[in-house]
Amino acid sequence: MPDRKRKRVAFDLDETLGVPVIDDVEITGFRFREGCVELLRRLRNDFDLILWSVSNRSYLDKNLAFGLSEFFRETYSWDEIATGWKDVRRIDADFLIDDSRHHFEEAAKHGIGDRYIVIAPYGSPEDFENPTLWIEQIEGILFER
Ligand SMILES: [Mg+2]
Repeated sequence: MPDRKRKRVAFDLDETLGVPVIDDVEITGFRFREGCVELLRRLRNDFDLILWSVSNRSYLDKNLAFGLSEFFRETYSWDEIATGWKDVRRIDADFLIDDSRHHFEEAAKHGIGDRYIVIAPYGSPEDFENPTLWIEQIEGILFER
């Protein structure tokens, strides 16, 4: 059997997986969007999962402490990669899943737009209308290729 490398799938944090719970100024939890934990559990069997935020390390670590860290083999913040757009080649990822179209649009200019999955932001009208659409979208792409 050919030794097929596990694909590396990167996720954005905010509004992609959920949102931090903020009490006054302190982060006191993380609110996962619908189906998120189950999705990450399924994906980690077949993929190496990476978390990539353009927020700083301290913010990322606070969020990771609320049940996120177990899913990700690697995490990247602004402190490690200060960049205006997330170029998947920089972290050797096969895919980036992000609620921001910006990264996809920049990637398309470099001919690698097909490695980006743009999903509806958590809490957006589109998400409110169909809270599990983002999951269908991600699994449709990741399990078809
Ligand atoms: Mg985001």
